[in-house]
Parts: sequence; structure tokens; C-alpha cells
Amino acid sequence: MITMTGVGKWYGAFQALHNVDITVAQGEKIVLCGPSGSGKSTLIRCINHLEAYQEGEIRVGGMLLGHQSKTIDAVRREVGMVFQQFNLFPHLTVLQNCMLAPVKALGLGKADAEERARQLLERVKISEQAEKYPAQLSGGQQQRVAIARALCMRPKVMLFDEPTSALDPEMVKEVLDTMIALAEEGMTMICVTHEMGFARQVADRVIFMASGAIVEEAPPAEFFSNPQHERTRKFLGEIL
Ligand code: ATP
Ligand code: MG
Repeated sequence: MITMTGVGKWYGAFQALHNVDITVAQGEKIVLCGPSGSGKSTLIRCINHLEAYQEGEIRVGGMLLGHQSKTIDAVRREVGMVFQQFNLFPHLTVLQNCMLAPVKALGLGKADAEERARQLLERVKISEQAEKYPAQLSGGQQQRVAIARALCMRPKVMLFDEPTSALDPEMVKEVLDTMIALAEEGMTMICVTHEMGFARQVADRVIFMASGAIVEEAPPAEFFSNPQHERTRKFLGEIL
């Protein structure tokens, strides 16, 4: 579903990703973790070309993600993304937020887009908030809307960048539960998160990054009980 081969990425003279190789099969769930500044956001933003990369190759569903806008658009239609800051459009209602991209990018009719949006709002258990504006919702509710909005594009892959780290503690669970349900339905997912309970429960593999490179990857049981590298042990010591 996703292959990254020898990916290198620079911000000006600063190299943010070094020779990154990752393969994600359909239905696989990956948790990506690592210290602040290790390149986690950069890595997942490269997958839908929110950031350009300069070296190596990224393929999504067989498409080579080069620099052609046609491929970039095609890849973005298949890859949903949820950010730490929910990034909902403040001037649109919950329902309008969910209808916008299917109408604009997929050419779906308004009635179809509305039906799809209502179904997905139901699925994230927030259908009763459809006519409200983002500012009228709690952080947890806004994040669930952001997940529903991404799902309205019927993506093949979902990328999450610290989706719970801006939330008050009591709202973390409702968002994690939504992500767990999505995982159980078979969605292919890459999640940047420090929620290690989620990693244990959901991840097929945990990938640990430091200084822009992958240090190690392993199934969660192995990753937590028997980390191979000193950097991983230090990181786990700090967060667990
Ligand atoms: P965090 O856990 O704090 O979110 P991260 O692992 O997501 O960190 P990135 O945001 O990917 O890290 O940043 C990786 C490195 O690239 C950091 O050193 C950061 O300062 C640098 N960087 C990120 N975005 C830019 C940018 N737009 N321009 C220049 N440097 C950047
Ligand atoms: Mg980040």
C-alpha cells in the first residue's frame, strides 16, 4: 500500500529525513514514535506530499509520488490525514466541513455528499452535532469530526499526527476509541502517537525514529519488552 525507499528530505541545508525505508501492507497499522524533532511529522507529511522529498521514492497504492500535480492529487484522494490541531474550517458547520472535499475533489453531488457525511458522523458518534460550528464543540468532538471528514473521501490509508496530544485528558479516550474502531474495520493506518496503550492494542508494528532516521521497528510486544537500541531504551524510559 505504501512503500518508502531510501527517502531523504531537506529543509534548506538541514536534512530532516535520512534514508527512510518503510513498507506498509494493506490493513496494517503502524505506530510511529520518537523524540520531538525526530522527523515523525515530516515523514508522514511526505506521504501525501504536504512536504516534498528530494531523494529516494515514495509509492502509494502503486502510484509513484513524484512532483506531478496530477499524481499528487490522486494520492491525496486516497490518503486521509488527521492533525494535532483539528484544522476544521471554522466558518463551516460540521456537516459542511465533511461535505466540502467530496463535492470539490470527487465531484460528488450535494445530496450524496450529505448522505455520506451523515453516515460517517454517525460512525464517529457525533451525528447530533451536524449543524453546529467547530467552535461550539469540545476538542474531542472536533477531532472526531476531523476523522469523519477524512473518511468522507473513502481513503485507503489514514495518517494521524498526534491526534490526541492537544486534547484535555478526559477527551483522549473518545478519540482513541474512534481510532481503535477504525483499525478493527481493517483501515490501513500510520499513527504518530505517544499513546503506548494504543500502540500495544492496535499496532502491528511500532517504528521508532531519532534524528530523522528509523532506529528500529518491531511488533509492540517485542518493542516494549526488548528494545534493541540504547536510544529506544532511553526514549521508552522517558515516556513510560
Ligand atoms: P514533534 O514530536 O515535536 O512533533 P517531529 O518528530 O514531528 O517532532 P518534525 O516536525 O518532523 O519532528 O521536525 C523534524 C526536524 O525538521 C526538526 O529539527 C524541525 O526543526 C525541522 N523542521 C520541521 N519543519 C520544518 C520547516 N518547515 N522548516 C525547517 N525545518 C523544519
Ligand atoms: Mg510532529
